[in-house]
Amino acid sequence: MSKPEALTPQYRELSPSRLWRNGSLGQKAGLFGGWLALLALCVWLGIGSVVWGWSGIPFEFGGVAVYLTVYPPLLICLLLTLTLGWWWGAIPAYCATVSLALYAGMPLSWALLFGLANPLGFAVMVIGYRATAMRRDLRGLTDLLFYVQQSFVAAVFGSSGALIWSYTNGYDRTAVLPVWQGWWLGAFVQSVVLVGPVMAALWPRIRRWQDAHPQLLRETRIRSRKTLLGLLASVTLGVLTYGYATTGLADAQVNLDALRQTMWIFYWVFVVIVLFIAFFGYQLFLHWQQTQDALLAEVQKLAITDGLTGLLNRREADRRLAAEWQRTQRSGHSASMVMLDIDHFKQINDKYGHPAGDAALRRLAGVIMSVARTVDSAARYGGEEFLIVLPNTSLRGAHAFAERLREEVEASVVKHDGHSFQMRVSLGVAAVRDDDASCERWLSRTDQALYRAKQGGRNRTELDVPAVENLA
Ligand code: GH3
Ligand code: MG
Ligand code: MG
Repeated sequence: MSKPEALTPQYRELSPSRLWRNGSLGQKAGLFGGWLALLALCVWLGIGSVVWGWSGIPFEFGGVAVYLTVYPPLLICLLLTLTLGWWWGAIPAYCATVSLALYAGMPLSWALLFGLANPLGFAVMVIGYRATAMRRDLRGLTDLLFYVQQSFVAAVFGSSGALIWSYTNGYDRTAVLPVWQGWWLGAFVQSVVLVGPVMAALWPRIRRWQDAHPQLLRETRIRSRKTLLGLLASVTLGVLTYGYATTGLADAQVNLDALRQTMWIFYWVFVVIVLFIAFFGYQLFLHWQQTQDALLAEVQKLAITDGLTGLLNRREADRRLAAEWQRTQRSGHSASMVMLDIDHFKQINDKYGHPAGDAALRRLAGVIMSVARTVDSAARYGGEEFLIVLPNTSLRGAHAFAERLREEVEASVVKHDGHSFQMRVSLGVAAVRDDDASCERWLSRTDQALYRAKQGGRNRTELDVPAVENLA
């Protein structure tokens, strides 16, 4: 049967509060300490990127001048975001950007706003991963494509900070382009070429660590319409803001050549964003559909399963019995059924307790499953009564099956709460007969056989009376 968890993996992240409450001293020191060290590194590298002028490095690409900004804190923080969770990456990213802005002389109020650019980009990415539960190990083509597009959209979102940067530095409008374009292109290229491979390489280890430390994680799965609407609204808003900013840039008094070149860049950025929305929507739909399918499969399974033993329940047994009876009427094939009742089960309950009785029932179900073929239908028919439908099986074959089952049960030991004991069963067997007027008739002949097995001293198999002569 399908496991819904396997179909819809949840988005798991390291919860700071759970780490604080449930983590060992070593885990707290290692994770919080390591994170603080990385935060300091990010601040230092952020200021360094201003000092060493890593912003808007020009490149010739297909005859068009493109700009690329190298910003190492982004790489570290993106990796932290994707592997640990949003807060873990957003806070160092914010600190690094605010520090570099203040170092470069930006007014405090602008700097505080400016710092939000990258955390915003990360948020888009995290929401995308939470909504679709796409895998972050990047092992499949879809997962890879999703990562590339997420990187792109996050980079474009994050690049909004470049507009603040240019404004506070008093750049004229033509000079905004290299800064802004350097930002999103730099962020995009670096997250695809550097962060992606590192994340893919680390993922198996992270996954193992997550599996081993569920008490430190928070699991989330986006289900509510409100969240999805919020997601859609934020992407739409991002695209509109982007469109407004780009139109504003193109509107600047730049020379015609530069305008023509940049217009094409804008076009391609738009193409990718539109593709992203289509792809994202498709993934969201797929994810939703898989969740529904898994849920349905689970409900269908529950509807036919006995909760204690995992065998079929009585309703499903009746349904299969009727279907089997119909089939024999049409095709003339044989079919048999075996009904089984535990001997002196009350004594087991009385002596070892009700939970031990339940353990015995589960053990018996296990023995039945191991003896039955896959085409057979085994069900818990009543409290400690079981029914097995055997398609294409003669009375002789069913008798052999019942005897093997009886011996296996007798040989097996139930262990529960320090006690170990054995049980015995009585069985009644009947094959469908030509003169059976109904399925119920077949069932009642089996029941009578079981009754005779009990009367005859238990721990035995009895066949349906008229058929005994046939067998002899
Ligand atoms: P017999 O050999 O005649 O079948 O004797 P018995 O003691 O098994 O008698 P009977 O079939 O009448 O007893 C059924 C007992 O099974 C009564 C009830 O307490 C117990 N039982 C029924 N369902 C469950 C269950 O789900 N768990 C446990 N532990 N006991 C159950
Ligand atoms: Mg019994
Ligand atoms: Mg009984």
